[in-house]
Amino acid sequence: MMLLRKEKHDVFPCHVDYGHLAEEREWPACQAVCKYLGVNPPVRFRVGGTKAIPSGLVHPELDIEKQAFFPTRNLLFATLGAAYAHGISCHVIALGIVANPIFPDQTEGFFQKAQECISSALGVETTIMTPLISLDKREVLKLAKARGLPFELTYYCHSGKAQPCGVCISCKERITAEKMLLEGSS
Ligand SMILES: [Zn+2]
Repeated sequence: MMLLRKEKHDVFPCHVDYGHLAEEREWPACQAVCKYLGVNPPVRFRVGGTKAIPSGLVHPELDIEKQAFFPTRNLLFATLGAAYAHGISCHVIALGIVANPIFPDQTEGFFQKAQECISSALGVETTIMTPLISLDKREVLKLAKARGLPFELTYYCHSGKAQPCGVCISCKERITAEKMLLEGSS
């Protein structure tokens, strides 16, 4: 969002509540970041019934690290974003996917196919942008820091707890990246 804003794009942020454990903290963080960046207030999609999907992201009793896959999550995000964009006559959507994919729906190849599929579904050529896909988490944090984004506005832990769990994939990536950034490694 920060990069799009910098390039003077009119940004219409979307947030998806898919019944995940972090929603209560992610949504206010999303609103705070949007407000800070001066973009339009975020739209919140609420997807129900996801407890039928055995993922650690929506079930506190499952392993938040080893069962972190929420099948087709990025396809769901891209589809909802494209549906919303279509309604406001916009045909470009952007997702903040970073490098080093762990799951199949995080790769450039996947997004190329998703773009074709969504364009076909809408009957309009639609572009999916993933401006961070060649940057790892450390490089993304470095970029955000350079642009002055207050990290305290963000939330990243999959557990949804006030204190980051330090165990989930998101925590591990973020904590390692912050450590590397502090140590000044490039
Ligand atoms: Zn965590």
